[in-house]
Amino acid sequence: RAKETGKARCLVYSPRTSGAPEHDISLEAAMFQAVREGEFLLYYQPIVDAPTRRIQGFETLMRWKHPTLGMVPPVRFIPIAETNGLINLLGAWALKAACVQLKQFEEVSKRPLYISVNISPRQFRNDKFLEVLDHALAFSGMNGSQLVLEITEGTLMIDPVHAESILVKMAERQARIAIDDFGTGYSSLAYLKRFPISVLKIDRAFVKDLPDSPKDGAICNAVLDLAKHLGLSVVAEGVETEAQLDYLDQRGCQYIQGYLTGKPMPAHAAMAALKEDLYASLMPIEPQAGIR
Ligand code: C2E
Ligand code: MG
Ligand code: MG
Ligand code: MG
Repeated sequence: RAKETGKARCLVYSPRTSGAPEHDISLEAAMFQAVREGEFLLYYQPIVDAPTRRIQGFETLMRWKHPTLGMVPPVRFIPIAETNGLINLLGAWALKAACVQLKQFEEVSKRPLYISVNISPRQFRNDKFLEVLDHALAFSGMNGSQLVLEITEGTLMIDPVHAESILVKMAERQARIAIDDFGTGYSSLAYLKRFPISVLKIDRAFVKDLPDSPKDGAICNAVLDLAKHLGLSVVAEGVETEAQLDYLDQRGCQYIQGYLTGKPMPAHAAMAALKEDLYASLMPIEPQAGIR
């Protein structure tokens, strides 16, 4: 690995990596140290049922807590890790840790939950990907049906033949596939017919101006309609207001993820949220006479 690092000096910058190249090279060097020092963490953001707001699962979101730079956002470090290949190592760790974490979450929730993990294009195309997946499931003892892997349209489009073979093998393990940032990539709807996909995640770009924007409303309605007819679940991302949640709920969007119903948080905070959720479910809907 050290040898690989030495060679990865000359980088091709993805458009998402902003800032001076010098800075990114030092950030890249710092990443290898960060792996050794254990500076990468996982946060968990609740995905809730729209009508009841009960937690159904969590999306795993990676964080890098740098000793002097503070929290480095994934939009800065994921593209670098994707370029130098470190994403395979980080991604394998995240997948396994998330599966182990789900078992702990369920000890608190007392009911089945699911865990959603982002898979980058390079991870998806890595030869070892299925091995990594099987190891995470076997190590955690988690059922494949409780795992959702989030990929983007671009991941499917790079090499559709290869993608199809991987997705079929995932389906054999009962792991579900979610299309992340749905509608923002370059692709055709034909892949919804071809690939075994279970979930569409409506990107925050289409949610943030709801309920006032007629165009965003039309797009969300069209996605919900499409999903309904194809038998897919929908998660709306980036829901920040009650008005957005109501709008989506009224139109049959079953799952909500956003700051309104829970920010990404460390595992201990996620467990506290699950405990609250459990107690709330045990409370009578109407306050009983005598309790107050
Ligand atoms: P994503 O998978 O689309 O994740 C959703 C992003 O939206 C997260 O940003 C989350 O914090 C943010 N978000 C959620 N609710 C709200 C909201 O109500 N308002 C706003 N403004 N933002 C909200 P985050 O954590 O910064 O991650 C950014 C991206 O980095 C992710 O987008 C994903 O593409 C990538 N990423 C994060 N963790 C991992 C990972 O473990 N592996 C890989 N391959 N990519 C990751
Ligand atoms: Mg995601
Ligand atoms: Mg997303
Ligand atoms: Mg997004």
